[in-house]
Amino acid sequence: MSTNANDTLAHFIGGKLVPSTSKRTGDVFNPATGDVQRKVALGSVEEVDAAVAAAKKAAVDWRNASLATRTRILFAFRELANRRKDDIARLLTLEHGKVLSDAQGEVQRGLEVIEFACGLSQLLKGELSENVSTDVDSYSMRQPVGVVAGITPFNFPAMVPMWMYPLAIACGNTFVLKPSERDPSVTNLCAELFKEAGLPDGVLNVVHGDKVAVDRLLEHPDVAALSFVGSTPIARYIYETGAKHGKRVQALGGAKNHMVVLPDADMDLAADAAVGAGFGSAGERCMAISVLVCVGSAADKLLPRIKERMAVLKVGNGLDPASQMGPLITKQHRDRVAGFVDAGEKDGAKVVVDGRALKVPGHERGFFLGPCLLDDVQPGMSVYREEIFGPVLSTVRVKSYDEAMALIQSHAYGNGTAIFTNDGGAARKFQHDVPVGMVGVNVPIPVPMAYYSFGGWKHSLFGDLHIYGPDGVKFYTRNKVVIGRWPDPRFRGVDLGFPQNK
Ligand code: NAD
Repeated sequence: MSTNANDTLAHFIGGKLVPSTSKRTGDVFNPATGDVQRKVALGSVEEVDAAVAAAKKAAVDWRNASLATRTRILFAFRELANRRKDDIARLLTLEHGKVLSDAQGEVQRGLEVIEFACGLSQLLKGELSENVSTDVDSYSMRQPVGVVAGITPFNFPAMVPMWMYPLAIACGNTFVLKPSERDPSVTNLCAELFKEAGLPDGVLNVVHGDKVAVDRLLEHPDVAALSFVGSTPIARYIYETGAKHGKRVQALGGAKNHMVVLPDADMDLAADAAVGAGFGSAGERCMAISVLVCVGSAADKLLPRIKERMAVLKVGNGLDPASQMGPLITKQHRDRVAGFVDAGEKDGAKVVVDGRALKVPGHERGFFLGPCLLDDVQPGMSVYREEIFGPVLSTVRVKSYDEAMALIQSHAYGNGTAIFTNDGGAARKFQHDVPVGMVGVNVPIPVPMAYYSFGGWKHSLFGDLHIYGPDGVKFYTRNKVVIGRWPDPRFRGVDLGFPQNK
């Protein structure tokens, strides 16, 4: 796949690349250099309609494809994606900016969802009850919903789409993906690999674009279900609009993840975890730690250790193996994140480590921001309340466990959280009490494995079911129950009463 600024990334519809006919394009930057490296088509209503039509046409055969056929194609896709994982990772580093080792980790977690989807024959088993009434058997089956649309964010351009389409397709659906327009190339590569694995044309389609494409998917009468991952305001909009148009919707939103550190914690372990989870991927992870809640004497032990680790962090181009943290996705986003630090300082927080002035030699136009550590943050400050999505760790000092819990309980978000302690009883109480979807005990980024499901509570998720894993199977299928009896002369005769079990 070539990348130069004159390229315009095409859609992938009906098994082939389809250059956009719309005049609208978006810039795809290399965030490390600040250069536009290519353009991406911003799809029109007609292009979305073409993708949905291709998916609808392919759905007829795909829902009837045997489980064995679907499994073989998924296995082949897993093999191809695994073989090409370094290419996928490199492409996403080039457009997202995250360091290559992190990109490789992202691809690996995506592969694990494909591996889970390979177990589709086991996952799609129904239930059977014999003799629910005399000589009557009842059984259930899970059937595909039809055409599913996926709308995904910039921060995991390979993994988050893989949370969706492999499982939806394994379940017998066809798919239209609208990836982030900021780092879209990796999606085309994966769609091409899936085709190479034997996926019939039209089962997976990619339409690039922005709000125009998303709005068409939201209202399109042939789209049965929508999986969304992105920021909370858009998640809420997707959920409400999709539901209004009669669609099944799961919409995962933003986050503000708190890490509670009790005074008895292993402080070196906690400091390693806070730095890794706060600044990995430049804080552009929905499971990043954003707030350290230090109980009692914990802050005075923890913060010097964190400072020590931050002092040696290497920020640079993600392709440089020495870099531990790359740039942010755009200049606007970099400036917005720096603005939160400005606001926190103005509101009275102490900027303990200030990354705002960082320049990366040779990359002066890159969208870099050095890691920042704030102390004495108060719950009323915007730096505490809002999702920042950048390399900024805020410290809130509290006197007790109860105060720490009250903070998390009253926060709008409920994606991930963690507690660091050596007290098993405290950890158990925390996991029981905390109103958050994913909880780490001495684990800062508790992303569920592919065979669990991923999702937050409160403003971090709109909808009933979490994504991938067992919830994903439920989301991408509809339940059907059959009650059957083979004709038996004993049961002849008209009966207008409501049937009763005998
Ligand atoms: P975003 O909400 O700006 O964009 C997500 C998708 O929605 C993109 O495909 C985009 O094109 C589309 N979109 C943007 N504005 C739209 C509009 N007005 N109408 C219709 N569609 C629109 O999110 P982002 O900046 O790409 O990603 C970062 C956000 O995603 C963060 O808030 C992060 O927490 C969240 N996120 C959440 C999870 C999770 O699992 N909960 C995972 C990853 C990222």
